Amino acid sequence: MAKSKYEYVKQFERETVFLPHTWLVVRIDGQGFHRFTATHDFEKPNDLRALELMNRCARGVFDQVGGICFAYGESDEYSFVVHENSQYFNRREAKLVSSIVSLFTSLYVFYWPTVFPDRQLKYPPSFDGRIVCYPTEAILRDYLAWRQVDCHINNLYNTCFWTLVQSGKSTVDAERELMGTLSADKNEMLFTKFGINYNKLPSIFRKGSIIVRDYVEEEHTDKATGEIRKKRKMRTVVVHEDIIKNKFWEQRPHILG
Ligand code: ATP
Ligand code: ATP
Ligand code: MG
Ligand code: MG
Ligand code: MG
Ligand code: MG
Repeated sequence: MAKSKYEYVKQFERETVFLPHTWLVVRIDGQGFHRFTATHDFEKPNDLRALELMNRCARGVFDQVGGICFAYGESDEYSFVVHENSQYFNRREAKLVSSIVSLFTSLYVFYWPTVFPDRQLKYPPSFDGRIVCYPTEAILRDYLAWRQVDCHINNLYNTCFWTLVQSGKSTVDAERELMGTLSADKNEMLFTKFGINYNKLPSIFRKGSIIVRDYVEEEHTDKATGEIRKKRKMRTVVVHEDIIKNKFWEQRPHILG
């Protein structure tokens, strides 16, 4: 195509291209979701359908955007890990972050009526995004552990807070009662006052959500013999497990491999 005299303006463009052989984490987070969840009557402390909506959007991103090998979600946030060997978008920061955040947001609005047929979307939600580049697998693992610990701390606190509020306490009194308490105190309070065993609450609340490609056994019928056979297939799956200890990673060496 012929160049116009205006082409020179391209020279003003600047961009960040991430170093090769480093892990990229794209973290998106709902903007003003404190208000959004209140306006849309989310169940407290955890609206299960809202978490499932987040997971559905994250799966869409996971399957559509190249180079993503792992995703971790809790509350209104999701972290997408781009594999150190990925060349997707030539590792350009602006392209990666803007396409992930816009696809996630449009999926959120797209799937909303399916997940919440009884709840009208009252205003358009938005998400922000950032990318952090981690030079080693060990630091990447620490990043993921940091997010899962955050999920645990927030969930334990929110579970206590909303249990107190639902038992008739004012929000101010509930906050005051929890001030300065340790994890052990909170577990004890839930159990002795309300008969709640924290460790028995759904793991999606306690551990967050993990999206990976993993081997699953599927049954299929052999056309010739009619026999039912089991086959191992690679599928995108959502699980709610501990990712801080080594076990998860040792069982799935292909994820970061
Ligand atoms: P910012 O724009 O700075 O991110 P924010 O209001 O979104 O502000 P966050 O720290 O991201 O603040 O907190 C998210 C809020 O959304 C918290 O109050 C959290 O409890 C709530 N929330 C997120 N997901 C759910 C859910 N599934 N059920 C109930 N509440 C949720
Ligand atoms: P990339 O993802 O790299 O941006 P692209 O397919 O979006 O790839 P663009 O260079 O952005 O490529 O071109 C946008 C395309 O969409 C062009 O083919 C353009 O003609 C078409 N297009 C955009 N808006 C309209 C419109 N209103 N009516 C018809 N065609 C349109
Ligand atoms: Mg937020
Ligand atoms: Mg958040
Ligand atoms: Mg285009
Ligand atoms: Mg390396």
